[in-house]
Amino acid sequence: MNMSNSVDNSLSNDSYDALVLAAKATLRRIASEFTPAVFASSLAAEDMVLTDLILRAELPIGIFTLETGRLPAETLNVIDRIKEIYDYDVALYRPEPAAVGAYVQQKGLNAFYESIALRRECCHIRKIEPLGRALAGNKAWVTGQRRSQSSTRAALDVQEQDDAHGMAKFNPLADWSEQDVWHYIRSNNVPYNALHDKGYPSIGCEPCTRAIQPGEDVRAGRWWWEAPDTKECGLHVVDGKLVRIKPVSAQ
Ligand code: SF4
Repeated sequence: MNMSNSVDNSLSNDSYDALVLAAKATLRRIASEFTPAVFASSLAAEDMVLTDLILRAELPIGIFTLETGRLPAETLNVIDRIKEIYDYDVALYRPEPAAVGAYVQQKGLNAFYESIALRRECCHIRKIEPLGRALAGNKAWVTGQRRSQSSTRAALDVQEQDDAHGMAKFNPLADWSEQDVWHYIRSNNVPYNALHDKGYPSIGCEPCTRAIQPGEDVRAGRWWWEAPDTKECGLHVVDGKLVRIKPVSAQ
């Protein structure tokens, strides 16, 4: 399945244009009222829309990614494309080598397949701890999450209060559909992860991501061996539980 070719040509231009304007307005507001702010990019399609919006407008929102050490080559290639096209260096946050070494030695390189607890422990070491370092000292962080991506994201708001990290959290594309994302990418020649053309609508670490079949949930290829309601990497989870971050009315 080629996700990037699944653009619905019957998009309503009015609502699409309104979504783009609203996302731009949200990013401008973050840049003016919440500095310093950072954008946590997974380098997937949604995140490339936000990357394009931030860098074209030269907004003072730093872009980083969590380089877990298990990312697919196609994802790492996107970092080079961003440098090539926008002349921008995405900041890379890596896990503590000692923590990775201890996990691999005591539990095994791919122990995350054995239980949810071991999977969350790996995500904690490779993603959550580095995320804490990346967010430290900021007033807000931005994500490319969308409401329609999965059951775990159905209640997402554009602006939320992230008490776990003590800052505002923005999801400027919360209202966007997958079609809107690909319409933006096509219309603006935005670079994207080649795995999207191979049936991967949602992309994470290489051993924990697979292609999906037509009709499957867009996040069905992430941690496919787990039940749908556990399938978050923990970036939006505290103490092993999904956190309902408080919505904040748009100002
Ligand atoms: S997605 Fe998989 S490999 Fe990546 S940090 Fe989580 S458990 Fe580890």
